[in-house]
Amino acid sequence: MTKVTRREFNRTMSKGIGSALLFSSTPLLYGNRLERKQQRKLGVALVGLGGYSTYQLAPALLETNFCKLTGIVTGTPEKELIWSEKYTIPKQNCYNYDTFDAIKDNDAIDIVYVVLPNAMHAEFSIRAAKAGKHVICEKPMAVSVEECDAIINACHEAGVKLGIGYRLHSEPYTQEVKRIVKEKIYGDILYVNAEAAYNSRGNPEQWRLNKKLAGGGSLMNMGVYSIQSAIYGTGQNPTSVTAQEFSTRPDYFKDTDETITAQFEFPNGAIGNIMTSGSANANRLYSTFENGWLELHPANNYGPLNGRTSDGKEINFPHERQQKLQMDDFAKHILQGTPNLAPGAMGKRDMIIVEAIYASIAEGGKKTPLDLGLMAL
Ligand code: NAD
Repeated sequence: MTKVTRREFNRTMSKGIGSALLFSSTPLLYGNRLERKQQRKLGVALVGLGGYSTYQLAPALLETNFCKLTGIVTGTPEKELIWSEKYTIPKQNCYNYDTFDAIKDNDAIDIVYVVLPNAMHAEFSIRAAKAGKHVICEKPMAVSVEECDAIINACHEAGVKLGIGYRLHSEPYTQEVKRIVKEKIYGDILYVNAEAAYNSRGNPEQWRLNKKLAGGGSLMNMGVYSIQSAIYGTGQNPTSVTAQEFSTRPDYFKDTDETITAQFEFPNGAIGNIMTSGSANANRLYSTFENGWLELHPANNYGPLNGRTSDGKEINFPHERQQKLQMDDFAKHILQGTPNLAPGAMGKRDMIIVEAIYASIAEGGKKTPLDLGLMAL
């Protein structure tokens, strides 16, 4: 057995990531209690301190067990002051978009979480990977399949982990849907309907309405949730898509898609219908099988979600912050080698579908084949 000196042991421990490996190979030497006590929380730096970071991710990082907020990256000096005081972040862990690459020398930061407008995801995810940091990239992963590939390759080359901010995979109602589908509790899936939409009345100058920054409109914003729901609501990747676009408020949605519907075919013959919009509220997943059905309604907000099945059962779980569960799952993936619940391949798969939907619309609603196999299932 290789001998580990106290100093080497401490150095490995301080890296956090190595600790899981070390412990897992020496289970008798270091029992579970000691392991929990000595395993430090991974440090997370949030890049982009907008609405999602402020109201969801930072509060969630106060509740996480396996990671914590240790750094920020912002283009706004006033935010640096407010955040560093509120979350006790030392000056040396605060970066702006120009100084960001120096994060490579900062051992307090293990994970960089990119929470910027969609068109900036690829650049900052790649820079984070090159700095040797694990990456969480918000949804949608990027604005093209090509960019998704570039992120995946950069993380692969740097030997760092990559997760997409698909918080619902760590959420119990969604996990129950996946179980019901996988175990064929009601037999084979026949039809899925998934809606993810909200009535946007905000600032017309916001980046979400700017194609250059958002990469698209409602489909990029909420539409990826309806794609996700249709896939875990059937347990399959679609083999074709036929899509339609509707516009009722062209003055507001000047540059981006407002409402999209699309129909999927699945390998077992099931069909699906998805809807996303910036002009209506809708938040539902309905899967119907040979011998019953399930419904989540709401299906994709911050929770608590709500669900039921055809035999009169409520799907019911205690509520926890989805982002807490999501970031802890990713940290455990790094520390303990547990499955990556939302890997880069999943973000890329969804972007392939997004591009196929736009292609179908561009060709007047032509049925567009999809060759995804078992990608990210
Ligand atoms: P936001 O508009 O509230 O914040 C965007 C941040 O990016 C701001 O801090 C802004 O200063 C910064 N920024 C840097 N360069 C910018 C530029 N050129 N234009 C505009 N802003 C710029 O947006 P948000 O709601 O926090 O969304 C950020 C990302 O998080 C998006 O990719 C979005 O899809 C994703 N998101 C995910 C969820 C989820 O549930 N997983 C929820 C909300 C947002």
